[in-house]
Amino acid sequence: MGSVTLENVRKRFGEVEVIHGVDLDIKDEEFVVLVGPSGCGKSTLLRMIAGLESVSDGEIRIDGTRVNELHPKLRNIAMVFQNYALYAHMSVRDNICFPLKMRGTPKHEIDERVRVAAETLGLTSYLDRHPKHLSGGQRQRVAMGRAIVRDPTVFLFDEPLSNLDAKLRVQMRTEIRTLQQRLKTTTVYVTHDQIEAMTMADKIVAMNDGHVEQVGSPLELYDNPRNLFVAGFIGSPA
Ligand code: ADP
Ligand code: MG
Repeated sequence: MGSVTLENVRKRFGEVEVIHGVDLDIKDEEFVVLVGPSGCGKSTLLRMIAGLESVSDGEIRIDGTRVNELHPKLRNIAMVFQNYALYAHMSVRDNICFPLKMRGTPKHEIDERVRVAAETLGLTSYLDRHPKHLSGGQRQRVAMGRAIVRDPTVFLFDEPLSNLDAKLRVQMRTEIRTLQQRLKTTTVYVTHDQIEAMTMADKIVAMNDGHVEQVGSPLELYDNPRNLFVAGFIGSPA
């Protein structure tokens, strides 16, 4: 389970509205990429889905329940950021199991889940290291480990690859997609990178200036952009 529905969602910071009535239907197990230029409202929308930011108007439902009505502990939405947000003083193992410890998960279950997460992400031999002894790609995998260890209903990624070099970025795109196909977790992936959107998405949501310009498969947006913004942004040689 993991459907996400947005209905006429608006966000105001003080007097300024930055999200202008977004409707969106994300199906269970879908990999949706939210793409648009810097400042168009991607992170704000993602943070509202995560329940980290209040919704000014409209509503967001996960499996039919309004996000704001879900107790934070029951939300079970995992978010991965570009700056990893790892704890420098903790080992990889402790970083990964942190969300489980917070929930008071029994130790034998923690050990088993960490084992599976580490295996899934190729981190088994790094569990006792500290983040400073890891490469950028490995750190990002630890951040993903911390996200998958609690078996979330929804994964949210906010530009997770922007700090990595070009080669690693290409490799991690494939890794994230493969991981998602294996776990089948509904995913909302934010990027300003058109190529990431085109290569990773089941469905692209093209955003501009606080609203959605077009929703469709990469091919649909490429072949039939609805307007000049989408055509220009997705880069169809019209
Ligand atoms: P993106 O992630 O697409 O770059 P953001 O969601 O970060 O865009 O920002 C969208 C708009 O909302 C920007 O104009 C930004 O300045 C504004 N904004 C974001 N967060 C806040 C905040 N906490 N207070 C005031 N304005 C904000
Ligand atoms: Mg952002």
